[in-house]
Amino acid sequence: MNSSTTKYIFVTGGVTSSLGKGIISASLAKLLQARGYSVTIQKFDPYINIDPGTLNPYEHGECYVTDDGAETDLDLGHYERFLNTPTSQANNVTTGRIYQSVIDKERKGDYLGKTVQVIPHITDEIKNRFQLLGKSGRYQFVITEIGGTVGDIESLPYIEAVRQMKWEHGKDCLVVHLTLLPYLHTTGELKTKPTQHSVKMLLENGVQPDVLVCRSIQSIDEDIRQKIARFCNVAPDAVIEALDAKSIYDVPMLMAKENLDKVVLEKLGLPTDTVTDLKSWEEFLVRLHHPHQKVRVALVGKYIELKDSYKSIAESFVHAGAANDVQVEVEWIHSEDVNDESVSALFEGIRGIVVAPGFGKRGIEGKIVAIRHARENNIPFLGICLGMQCAVIEFARNVLGFKDAHSTEVNPATSHPVIDLQEVQKKITHLGGTMRLGAYPCLIKEGTKAWEVYGHKKEVSERHRHRYEFNNEYLKDFEKAGLKASGTHPEAGLVEIMELKTHPWFVGVQFHPEYKSTVANPHPFFIGFVKAALQYQPQHEVARVQKV
Ligand code: GLN
Repeated sequence: MNSSTTKYIFVTGGVTSSLGKGIISASLAKLLQARGYSVTIQKFDPYINIDPGTLNPYEHGECYVTDDGAETDLDLGHYERFLNTPTSQANNVTTGRIYQSVIDKERKGDYLGKTVQVIPHITDEIKNRFQLLGKSGRYQFVITEIGGTVGDIESLPYIEAVRQMKWEHGKDCLVVHLTLLPYLHTTGELKTKPTQHSVKMLLENGVQPDVLVCRSIQSIDEDIRQKIARFCNVAPDAVIEALDAKSIYDVPMLMAKENLDKVVLEKLGLPTDTVTDLKSWEEFLVRLHHPHQKVRVALVGKYIELKDSYKSIAESFVHAGAANDVQVEVEWIHSEDVNDESVSALFEGIRGIVVAPGFGKRGIEGKIVAIRHARENNIPFLGICLGMQCAVIEFARNVLGFKDAHSTEVNPATSHPVIDLQEVQKKITHLGGTMRLGAYPCLIKEGTKAWEVYGHKKEVSERHRHRYEFNNEYLKDFEKAGLKASGTHPEAGLVEIMELKTHPWFVGVQFHPEYKSTVANPHPFFIGFVKAALQYQPQHEVARVQKV
């Protein structure tokens, strides 16, 4: 494919943040992909951090990790879940990264003594990054979501770079502007003024949007469409209504109904009569919206107030629920609320427990109590990353009798460092950083739960984001007592999966299965966990039935 034929679509946001640019971008990409085009989506974030890896989840929600070990914005998770194609480091760029490479070039003397300025040097670097994936020749469409809201000081260089791209690429470049039509209850009207103002702001920066996607809680009638079209210089059919949806996965269908893909194709000079194949997506939606039963599971974590912190886990449950024809109701339980006194009441009626990933000390003891509850009551359990590490600590303390067992992340002075930094880990860590990030192979032992879960695969690849590891010096003790390693790194022997032989479904994984769950490919560990939760019957209920 000739890279000069790559079409560039930019998605900007106006009026307010949190309008769902990520979901609109992913939905448009889905519709184009369903017409047979190769599409990728990238996100440009206007903050100075090099990547969101160092950001507190309270600040920015979950940090999503790609196969190549990039710590990225959570919107990349949506892109992968919708498109079922992996993203990479190149799909998430921040202002920090742009400035870093410009400054590096300046230090190397690449600018030949010129004064280095926002225009053209920063904007050139932005334009280069805009086109990096397009120039790889792998994509017919590159959709770029510009983070932030039009009018922010930070966004200006990006909007300027979009202006230049439009000028240079003409018909191969298009801008979709996402905006809000607030509804005034007192007058019972949708108001268009904020939209007019945000388009004016774009125009002041030299960018004429081609398509307006208008978030609204009410249908947009013909009059409003005409009015927006007239004030904002767009065709009435390019004013797209985006109503609140029951699920984010309904949005591609809503956008198809509004002909968003057709309008975009027309404007880019491409045929609009190609067939859209959304059959499997529609089948997924039927299963999602018409579950046969419900199952309640708990997610134990320390960022429960902000559900975006566990976005990929929540979405993995949606995928795995649909795969099992059930609705998974997730009870979010704060790890700091769990203790020996509260545990039974907190987990009443819960059919499965997931212990979330995390860093640091806060909430660890609560997680350990929750795991003991799952282990002793045969409740299906999935421990993810720190969740697996806590399962190891719990087992060491309460089964092996190593009373002060801990991870050296929390207690460096423990006499039983069952989770520790491993020399061998340091050797396989990408780029010499201290974190194990991105995809690593994992060998699966035959005849184990993991073997069953993965459908008898000998080797799988999963994504990691952690520093500490299971301490193999203790492996014999654990295996003798029943907690066995069922997945290991092929060369380093690092333990990637542990499972309890004497329990119906008790698994800890050092990696993050949630990063790889998509609509088309729900992760087998979440499917298996939900299946086990459906089969679980609490002992007191079994006893009651027997008595009757
Ligand atoms: N804090 C743990 C570690 O660094 C676990 C990290 C995680 O759960 N992602 O090893």
